[in-house]
This record gives sequence, structure tokens and C-alpha cells, in this order.
Amino acid sequence: MLTQNYDTVYENMKTACEKAGREQEDVTLIAVSKTYPAEDISKLYAHGCRDFGENKVQELLEKYEVLPKDIRWHMIGHLQRNKVKYIVDKVHLIHSVDSLRLAEEISKEALKKNVTVNILIEVNVAQEESKFGLKTEETAALVEQISALPGICVKGLMTIAPYVENAEENRQYFRNLKQLSVDIMHKNIDNVTVGSLSMGMSGDYCVAVEEGATYIRVGTSIFGERDYSQKM
Ligand SMILES: *Cc1c(COP(=O)(O)O)cnc(C)c1O
Repeated sequence: MLTQNYDTVYENMKTACEKAGREQEDVTLIAVSKTYPAEDISKLYAHGCRDFGENKVQELLEKYEVLPKDIRWHMIGHLQRNKVKYIVDKVHLIHSVDSLRLAEEISKEALKKNVTVNILIEVNVAQEESKFGLKTEETAALVEQISALPGICVKGLMTIAPYVENAEENRQYFRNLKQLSVDIMHKNIDNVTVGSLSMGMSGDYCVAVEEGATYIRVGTSIFGERDYSQKM
């Protein structure tokens, strides 16, 4: 089931790329494995998947310990500063940086471990009150500030679109995030390329790909509905 689901999502992603005239290699499918056991990740790993997304530091660390080291771990959830030190040398990309203080902490811990940490800036393009992330108009300034920090590299932007029945409703938000990245690129800030765009989830990843996503974060469509009643 798992590998079939993965293949289906992958095929849909390819179709969306073709429709938009994009190269399929330019989009990475991240299997969001939060709440699912390491065995499920192993199955997809054997199937060829290397990119997995987690939203809790503890869970990411537990899985990191027992799974192959060439997995690319994506931290997609809200990150507390006091937990940064546990993951800076283990994650491929942190998608959810939304403050200078958090970026400073990442920079500090990256220097201690002698690594460069790749990050995305989380933008709340839909301006939902319940969500983390920067306002669109605050983003360029923060990108500039963070880019001056050592040990940290801003690669692009991320957004979590609203939950909607009809994915078309989110097209505007994906388009806005893409436009924001273009606007920031045009500012020609030193050492800044914000070409990566992490957007699109189970309900709307095809639309996101059509609008320029370079990472899509898909959980439910691959693993099934999550069960939050039992803590892992
Ligand atoms: C859980 C989660 C996803 C995956 O959502 P699905 O709807 O299950 O595909 C994507 N992005 C973030 C930030 C998440 O927390």
C-alpha cells in the first residue's frame, strides 16, 4: 500500500510538472512521516525514497538513530530555540524559520558543530491567525538579516496553506509565495538565492507544483490518516 501510494503521488507530481512545462527533477517529494513508525520509513527507503519530513525534534531524533544515515531529514514543524542544538548536524533542511532569534540560535549551534545549516523562511501568506510564519512584507528584511549570519544559508521560502476542500483556492497563496521569492531575488542581496519553494501538501500539491513548488510535503496521501490518540 505504502509504496503504491508513494508511486501514485510521484506520478501525479510528474503530471503536474508536465502540465506546467517544468522539469520533474526540480521538484522533491518529501514523505511526511510524522506519527508513523520507522518501519514504514524503511519500506519507502527500500523503494528509493530518501527525503522524509518530521515536525517534532524528539521524534526526528529517534528515527534518525535507527535509520540509514543517507536519509535527508526535513524539519517542517515549529522549532523551539532550546531544541536547535539537537538537530543542526542531522537535518538536511529546516523549513520553518520564522524569526531572527531562531536563526541566531541555529547559527550559533552550527558554528559549534562546524556545519552549515540550510534553511527556508516560513511565510504565512494566507495570514491565518493560527499559523506560524512571517508576514509577506516582513520577509525580505529578515532574509537579509539572516543572510549575514555565519553557519546558516537561506535557500528559499516555505508556506503552509489553509486546509481547503478545493485545492484551487490555494493557488493564489502559492502564486504569492513564488512572487515573493522573485521580488527578493530582484533585490540582489549578497549571498542570497531564495529559489527553493516548499509548498503543497496532500490536498493541494499538484496545484503547488504548477505554481512553482520545488519541495512538496506529503503525508496523508502516502501513509494514510494519522492517529494522534497514541503517543509514539
Ligand atoms: C503534517 C504536515 C504536512 C503533511 O500534511 P498532509 O496533509 O498529511 O499531506 C505538510 N507540511 C507540514 C508543515 C506538516 O506539519
